[in-house]
This record gives sequence, structure tokens and C-alpha cells, in this order.
Amino acid sequence: MSTTETQSEECTYFRWSKPDTGYQIRHEMNYDGNKDYAVFLSPGELDERAIVPYIEYQHKATHFIETEVLKDSPVLFARFADLDLSDVTKILEFANQNGFLLPTHIYNFPDRLPLTGEKLALWVNQIWLMKQTFNIWQWSLSKDTDKLASVIKVDEKSIRYQFDTPRSRLWIINKQNHPTLFRKLIPGDFIIPARAFMQMRIDEQLSDMRIKAYKKPPIAMRLVFNSQNELDPYLAPTSLLAAMWLQFRQHVTRERRLKRCEICEQWEDVTVNRESWTSHELCVNRDKVKKSRKLMAVKKHLQEGLGVDDISVKLNVGVRDIQRWLKKETENKFEQKP
Ligand SMILES: [Zn+2]
Repeated sequence: MSTTETQSEECTYFRWSKPDTGYQIRHEMNYDGNKDYAVFLSPGELDERAIVPYIEYQHKATHFIETEVLKDSPVLFARFADLDLSDVTKILEFANQNGFLLPTHIYNFPDRLPLTGEKLALWVNQIWLMKQTFNIWQWSLSKDTDKLASVIKVDEKSIRYQFDTPRSRLWIINKQNHPTLFRKLIPGDFIIPARAFMQMRIDEQLSDMRIKAYKKPPIAMRLVFNSQNELDPYLAPTSLLAAMWLQFRQHVTRERRLKRCEICEQWEDVTVNRESWTSHELCVNRDKVKKSRKLMAVKKHLQEGLGVDDISVKLNVGVRDIQRWLKKETENKFEQKP
């Protein structure tokens, strides 16, 4: 029927680099007074003379490591959305693993060493945007009407999106400007308004008009030789930030399913997994090894004459867990000996 059904999937080409020694936090003047990312800054911090945190290269970096971060982590955008806005250590850890969000930027200060880096405020703001969009997507997949209704207000003439954050921008869609969308609406249903939000936000994040700091278009189109020496069409993000939004976009349009691993609590793409998937195989095995090590320690302490309560404190394992393991062991022994 439509051409989209026969269209091949978009392939992505993205290589990104990071310094071998990683990044650090440095406090410097908000010298350029750039207010683009100031959503989370208090009015005082907007002052050009204010001191704000930056993420910068460690000065002793000798070379750069090139990585294919999207291939290494097919759900990188979800991990980015998962970052705690107030946890600088975790944000720095993400930068150390994946690099800067945008192409290298140098800040010059009077009487100070220049700084190659990004403002922490840029990170916080971008994490927040991704988190907000990711939540709406997850809620619409799980049809969580209560959560959707808490941020989306629909009436006959408008759809309003209101988020509970400082200096948050209110988004409104009017019936006059979007008559087609309003014809699709069913009273009490939030899925179409949620999808409309995804559409606006993702299109906005991948358009160079919105993020001035991109400096070049967020996505370039490239032709790449395949193994048959033919040319294949590729989308090539020009920054980590654009790459993550493109990854998100592909997940949304391909209706992929994500699930949190019950053990490591990281998101995983489970589209091809069975419905009952709960955790990574590696995590399960690691957990088993950890448990069997602890069980061995429990048995050793029991032989030494220690009580279960003392062992629980010593090994940092719950008393009930210890009792359960021991019970299971005895059962297994009986099963093995017919
Ligand atoms: Zn896991």
C-alpha cells in the first residue's frame, strides 16, 4: 500500500572518540554567558561572572580512542535517560565511557588555561529532555493512562504538555493548527497525544534549528561500500547526542521493546527475546557464582561454629536467604541420591 512498508531499514554509521585518560570536572566562569542550556541554572548562575562546572579533558591525555558506541550499546539512549540529574559521578562515568555529547568545543578565559569541554548544565539539560521523552514512550507502551494524564492535558481545542520542572517550557498543540491530529483523537485516550509528543520532540532534537551548539547538521547522509562493493545508504550522526536521538527514533518507529534486567537494572532491547525475559544471561551466571561463593563461605563459618545470625552480619546476607540456600542444598542432595 504505502512505500514505507517496502522501505529498507535505515542503517547508521557512527564513530566517536574519547581521550585515553578520560574526563574531569573543572569549575570556571560562565564566560560566554551562553543561556541555551540554562533550564536548570538558578538566575545567579546565568551571570557571566558566575562559576559553573564543566566536564573537560584530563590534560595528560596522549591519544584518542575511537569507538562505535551505538554498536557497543544498542540502548545507549535509555542508559542516558536513566542517569540521575544530581549524580555528577555517574554523569562523568557516562562521559568516560562514551565521550562528549557534542563536537569538541574550546572555552577561552582571560588569564586562565583554555578548557576543552562541555558545561555540566548541557549534560543535565539533555539528560532531562531524554528522560522526559523516554518516560512518555514507556508509559504509552504500557498504556499507563494515569502517568500520561499527569503530564498531558487534553480538551476539545488543545493538547497541553506540562512537566514539573523549573523553567519548563509549556508545549501546546491547537486544533486550528493541527486539524488532522485532532480528528484522530478519541476522548480519554492518551496514546495519540503521547505519540504526537514523541514526534515533535524527536524531530526537534534532530533538527539543527533547535540545538545551536550542533554547529553542523546533526545527521549527515553518507554512502558506504558494502562487501559486494556496492553503495549502501547510511545515516551518519555528527555527535553523540544526535546519535542517541537517532537510536531512540529508530526504536520508536520500529516498535522495539525494552526491559530492565532484574539483576543489573540496565535497560535491554528484548524485541527478539521471549515475553518472559527477566535478566541478562551473563548477570544470571554472575549472580549464581556470587551466590555459590557466599554459600561456601556460609558452610565454612557453620563448621567453625558460628550461628546463622553472626554469619548474616559477617557476609552481609539476609538470614532468610541463608536459610533458603541451605534448605535448597539439602533438597538437592536428596534428589541426587535416589
Ligand atoms: Zn543485567
